[in-house]
Amino acid sequence: MNEEQKKMRPLPTGLVQDNIWAINNLFVNFFILKKGEHLVAIDTGANPELSVTEMGSLGFTPDQINTVLLTHSHGDHTALLSQFTNATVYAFNSHTQVAHGDKLSIAGMGVEVIHTPGHKSDHVGFLVDGGIYFAGDMMSVTDEGKVGLFNEVYNEDSAQQAKDIEAVLARTDIKTVITAHYGILHR
Ligand SMILES: [Zn+2]
Repeated sequence: MNEEQKKMRPLPTGLVQDNIWAINNLFVNFFILKKGEHLVAIDTGANPELSVTEMGSLGFTPDQINTVLLTHSHGDHTALLSQFTNATVYAFNSHTQVAHGDKLSIAGMGVEVIHTPGHKSDHVGFLVDGGIYFAGDMMSVTDEGKVGLFNEVYNEDSAQQAKDIEAVLARTDIKTVITAHYGILHR
């Protein structure tokens, strides 16, 4: 890992709350969300072999994934995309395209798309069932729950990211923010 990656604080592989699992890839997480028999992956990891191994430790295989919600196209979020052969992939400007404000219905869940381009122009977050926000690389969070910018060296526009963070956190319906590199913020 490089010096920037060492600053990151991903979760260990395992259950993070009801029906949501974190998959660890050293410096990044992706997540699996289960609704009934439907499996949704939020992002797809940094390393294909490690991702499959870590998923397997929880009893999941890539072919079981029905839906992928891709926060953005950086390589540490896209490793297993080609192996999720049974999944519909939603992303900002590729696959099944989504746009800011879209409200998807996935296995009975409402999923709102929020465009947060500060990190990368194709970066979006996904608000699931009006309360759980998958934020990708929109922000960092400390152990004490202090929110900050993501590692600026990886941001396309940190000033825009500050606005992205402010807009998302102004939403009082968002109770849980799940980040890709900095764990979870409970509000
Ligand atoms: Zn990124």
